[in-house]
Amino acid sequence: MEKNKKVVTLAYGCQMSERDAETLTDITRQKGYTSSDELENADLVIINTCCVRESAENKIMGKIGELKKLKERNPNLKIAISGCMVQQPGALERLQKRAPHVDIWAGTHNLHNFSALLQQVDQGGKAAEVWQEPNITEESTPLAEKGKLKANVNIMYGCDNFCSYCIVPHVRGRERSRKPEEIIQEIEDLVKRGCREVTLLGQNVNSYGKEFSPAYDFADLLQKVDQIPLLLRVRFITSHPKDLSDKLINTIAEGQKLCEHFHLPIQSGSNFILQRMNRKYTREYYLSRVRKIRELLPHASLTTDIIVGFPGESDEDFEQTLAIMDTVHYGQAFTFMYSKRSGTPAAEMNSQIPLDVKKRRLQRLMSVQNQNSLKWRQSMIGKIYEVLVEGLSRTNSERLTGRTRGNELVVFSGDSEIIGSLVNVRIHEAGSWTLVGDIENL
Ligand code: SAH
Ligand code: SF4
Repeated sequence: MEKNKKVVTLAYGCQMSERDAETLTDITRQKGYTSSDELENADLVIINTCCVRESAENKIMGKIGELKKLKERNPNLKIAISGCMVQQPGALERLQKRAPHVDIWAGTHNLHNFSALLQQVDQGGKAAEVWQEPNITEESTPLAEKGKLKANVNIMYGCDNFCSYCIVPHVRGRERSRKPEEIIQEIEDLVKRGCREVTLLGQNVNSYGKEFSPAYDFADLLQKVDQIPLLLRVRFITSHPKDLSDKLINTIAEGQKLCEHFHLPIQSGSNFILQRMNRKYTREYYLSRVRKIRELLPHASLTTDIIVGFPGESDEDFEQTLAIMDTVHYGQAFTFMYSKRSGTPAAEMNSQIPLDVKKRRLQRLMSVQNQNSLKWRQSMIGKIYEVLVEGLSRTNSERLTGRTRGNELVVFSGDSEIIGSLVNVRIHEAGSWTLVGDIENL
C-alpha cells in the first residue's frame, strides 16, 4: 500500500464524467492515495476526458501539455488519461504519439481495472487499455467516500439514440440499466453516510429499464427512491423529450422529494434540423410535452441544450430555435456551436455552416437566453421557495448558499448549523446568476 501519496483528479464534460472521476479517485484511495487540488505536489494526476466537442478536446490537450512541464520538474509524477477521448476508435495510438509523457491510458470501459494499471506503472513502464465492450458486472461499483451532502448515482450507462452529431454512443456503448435494487441499496448507503440529495444519471433516464421483463420503468424507480427515509431530494438528468411519458410527469407531480426540474434538451426548434439530427420528435411534440409539464407542475423549471450551426441550418431554421426560447421560457440553456465529430453521420453531411455564421448565431441565442434567464429569476421575487442549505457562500463566508427544487442557486443569511437541512427562503433580489433571499419561518 502506498502511503501519503497525493492524487489530483480532473474531470471534463458531463456529470457522468465527474462520477467516473470519483470512481477513479476512490480506487486510488484504496491504494493509499489522498485526494488533493494541488497539482504542484501531486504524485498522480488523473484526467477523465470528454470528446463531445472539439473545443473540449483542445482544452484537454492543452492541459496534458502543461503536465509535461510539471513532470519535468517532478520526474516521479505519474499521469493517467482516461475516459471518452481515449475510447474513440483509433484515438489511443494518436494520443500516445502526441503525449509520450503520459503513463496510463484507460478507455471508458476500463476504469474499474485502474488499480491493475496503476500497479503496472508502479513496477516501471507504461500501461494502456481500451476495451471495446463494457464489463457490466464491474461498472456499477459504489463509492466509498463518506459524508457528502449531494451525490450522483448512475442508473444506466451508454446510449442507443445515435443522434447524428453525437459521439457519446460510440464511446460509452449501448444502453444498459442497473437493477433497481442495486440503485436503491447504493442510495440507502449514501444516506447512511450523510447524503441528502441524489441526482440519478443517465444519457436518457426516460428510457431506463427498457430491457427489463417484467416491465419496470423510470417512473417506477422514482416512486421507490422517493420513499427512502432521510433522503430529502431526488434529481435526474438527462431527459430525452421523445421518451418523456405522462406517467413520469404524474409521478413527479405526486412525489414528495422528486424535484420539479426537467433538463429537456431541444437541440433545435426546426423540424427539418431535428430530423437531420435524428432526434425522433418534432417541435410540436416537444411543445406538447412542455404543456403537459406546465399543466401538472406550473412551477417546474425547464432547462435545455441547443446546438447552433448544424449542417444545413438556414437563417429561418435558426429563427425557429429563437422563437421556441420565447415560448418555453427556459431557466437556463446550455448553448453550443455544432462541432464535427469524426465517425458520426453529421460530419459527412453537405452544407456545413461556416464558423463566423455559427459564432453570430451563438451570440444571438445567448443574448436571448440571458434575458430569459433573468426574467425567469425575476419572476421568483417575492415568493417563498424550499431551499436545501448546501454550505457557505464562496464569495461571502458570512452567507449561506443552497438550491431551490428547480435547481436555482440562492444566497441568504443564516447559521451554519442548518447546512444539510431544508429551509424556506423568500426571494427579494435576482442577480444575473443567483437569487438573494431571507429565511422565512412559516
Ligand atoms: N444525453 C444527453 C446529452 C449528452 S451530450 C442528451 O441527449 O440530451 C450534451 C450536449 O452536448 C448535447 O445535448 C448537445 O447539445 C451537445 N452536443 C453533443 N454533440 C455535439 C456536437 N457534435 N457539437 C456540438 N454540441 C454537441
Ligand atoms: Fe448523444 Fe443523442 Fe445519446 Fe444524448 S441522446 S447522448 S445527444 S446520442
